[in-house]
Amino acid sequence: MAKNETLQLARISVRGIVQGVGFRPFVYGAATRHNLKGWVCNTSEDVKIEVEGGMEAIGQFKLELQTKAPPLAHIEDIKISYHPPVGYKSFEIRHSIAEEGKYQLISPDIATCQACLSELLDPDDRRYRYPFTNCTNCGPRFTIIEDMPYDRPKTTMRYFQMCPQCQAEYDNPLDRRFHAQPNACPKCGPHVELLDAQGNTISSPDPVASASQLLRKGKSVAIKGLGGFFLACNATNDAAVETLRKRKKRFSKPFAIMITNIEEVKRHCYVSPEEEKLLTSPQSPIVLLKWKEDSSISRMVAQNLHYLGVMLPYTPLHHVLLRDSRLPLVMTSGNISEEPIAKDNDEALRRLSGIADYFLVHNRDIYSRYDDSVAMVERGTTQLIRRARSYAPYPIHLRFQTRQVLGCGAEEKNTFCLTRDNYAFLSQHIGDMENMETLKHFDSTISLYKRLFRIEPEIIAYDLHPDYLATKYAQELGESGLKLIPVQHHHAHIASCMADNGVKPPIIGVAFDGTGMGADGHIWGGEFLLADYRAFTRKGHLEYLPLPGGDAAIKRPYRTAIGYILSLLGESALDQGLAFLPQVSDVEVEIIKRQTERGINSPQTSSMGRLFDAISAFMGIRDEIDYEGQAAVELEMAAYKENYAHNRESYPYNIIEDDEMRIVKLGNLLSAIIEDLKQGMPKGEISIKFHNTVAKMIEEVCCLIADETGIKQVALSGGVFQNRLLLRKTVNLLEKGGFKVFTHRQVPTNDGGISLGQAVVANFTE
Ligand SMILES: [Zn+2]
Ligand SMILES: [Zn+2]
Ligand SMILES: [Zn+2]
Repeated sequence: MAKNETLQLARISVRGIVQGVGFRPFVYGAATRHNLKGWVCNTSEDVKIEVEGGMEAIGQFKLELQTKAPPLAHIEDIKISYHPPVGYKSFEIRHSIAEEGKYQLISPDIATCQACLSELLDPDDRRYRYPFTNCTNCGPRFTIIEDMPYDRPKTTMRYFQMCPQCQAEYDNPLDRRFHAQPNACPKCGPHVELLDAQGNTISSPDPVASASQLLRKGKSVAIKGLGGFFLACNATNDAAVETLRKRKKRFSKPFAIMITNIEEVKRHCYVSPEEEKLLTSPQSPIVLLKWKEDSSISRMVAQNLHYLGVMLPYTPLHHVLLRDSRLPLVMTSGNISEEPIAKDNDEALRRLSGIADYFLVHNRDIYSRYDDSVAMVERGTTQLIRRARSYAPYPIHLRFQTRQVLGCGAEEKNTFCLTRDNYAFLSQHIGDMENMETLKHFDSTISLYKRLFRIEPEIIAYDLHPDYLATKYAQELGESGLKLIPVQHHHAHIASCMADNGVKPPIIGVAFDGTGMGADGHIWGGEFLLADYRAFTRKGHLEYLPLPGGDAAIKRPYRTAIGYILSLLGESALDQGLAFLPQVSDVEVEIIKRQTERGINSPQTSSMGRLFDAISAFMGIRDEIDYEGQAAVELEMAAYKENYAHNRESYPYNIIEDDEMRIVKLGNLLSAIIEDLKQGMPKGEISIKFHNTVAKMIEEVCCLIADETGIKQVALSGGVFQNRLLLRKTVNLLEKGGFKVFTHRQVPTNDGGISLGQAVVANFTE
């Protein structure tokens, strides 16, 4: 400081993700470098800093805050005010202050950093092979936090007393582990243990090495990870994968794979530069990659699929295990079919016994369940398909201030969403709300988010479907006097896409999915809406067709196919030698006929998802499904089999306009496909023509709506747009037609995004 320069005191408040990410040591370093005195402190709301020194030094310090913060910090706002100096003698890090009603953002769990990985693999390091190695730049956060401010006593690490060496790192502002709350070492931290299927300890000097031996022998091991248990087996061993499928009752839904490093990944999959960046990012999600034909990974891992879900190791335990086993491993959620992932040791032994041969457990509790996130890169942009580990609970930023609202979400791939200020706290993936276990998980996670972010919702938003558990949950809250606002499912889809992209409404919304309760009591799913955040008008849809047997038709798409043929082409069309028909018994065909004719247990639907199902079934691709969307996915995959990419042909359809409503009639489409099948056209070619048709249909209806309204921006949302082929074709056509197109990015296009849409719509509803 120059002589005679006037001293100033600057009071600074920094908001964002600034706790548990090495922010205070960074502040300490910057302040001492600029010879500033004062202190830094975490509060429930922000990081508060007071620095005293010359104006120039304070200015440089502020610039460093803005430009040089640690990698995991995410600064949202810096406020600064100037005061007369008080005469600080040094710079210190003060104890955290808890404040009533205040909140701040929380870092999600983050994949092991390079520095920790080097220590983990260094035989001379005291953390060599230690599965709980972490620092302020990586490791568990959200999964171990019970409350804020983020300090060790408020995490599940409070049971572990740090040894003198760890304590010294923790206390040294210049150490990478300064105030790293989960800091631990083999002497003082958590430990792993290997158990047999009965829960007996298997004594081993190195349980991780023993577990990898078992995996090499074809055994399945339940591994306690960050946010719960995962089931692992050798991904190159057909028998091991098949056994795991049978035991887990997950017969064909694809498994995710964990592979040691990016070089190995490239031996099995095609990886674009954007995909590589995503795989190796601190979030380290599962990325859907194009699977190489000559990969040694068992085809049983993702049957009939062209894409493989791949992730890299993201905890030290994974790194050691993968290196020891020298195998790509199946790494799938530790649950039976759609229940929530098991998180406690006893619970895992109880629920996963009969599935896993062995259990690799540890004694650090998991506070919050957290599945792996799933993403894909489409047109160079990351799109989350399942938003969980390393993304939640980081909020979606809204372009407007909100009231405190709870959106309860839908039934499948449920998430909930809590809003306050300009934040939407979209929860991690909760699961399919079909059982009490998931409902409990939903309820306790809502409580956690309310507590962490100090939210007491005044409004509860929910889906129109009366049977959804999330709807029932909302209605119970309504009984205690909270304001209830129902939000139509497809309006929520479009609102969620608008919020995801910060779009200024109104917009033409194309919401294509399997099932959503319509405002007229029918099942919608092939919808063209004119929407803003407050309301929507239905401007077009696929014609209504029967779903003979309701849920039975969803599980057995051949029923949908027969129902569609009967209503569109009449009974005689069933005699055209369709390949799938001989598979169906005469009795069932009779039942379907009766249901369709008389409308018994045969709801009407305008669903695009069901149209994909029906086409898939009557092309003989998939007539019964084991997981949601399977028939449609396999229809998409058929298009990749041969090189049909350049085929621009499409099938005929009709659009009837009636009183500003457009209805897409499908009879000609169906008979043209039957004709191609009769001619022996390859299925892949029919599939690509069908995809071309749907994209064309979207563009045509959007043009009609644009002609009427003058609106030239379109939002695409709903599970059908997980279909990458359709998404690409649709965006291309719409852009060529002069539309500005919005697709999902941070929020899933499937029902995982519904709660966000509900919350923003309810926020704008009087
Ligand atoms: Zn680290
Ligand atoms: Zn220690
Ligand atoms: Zn939906």
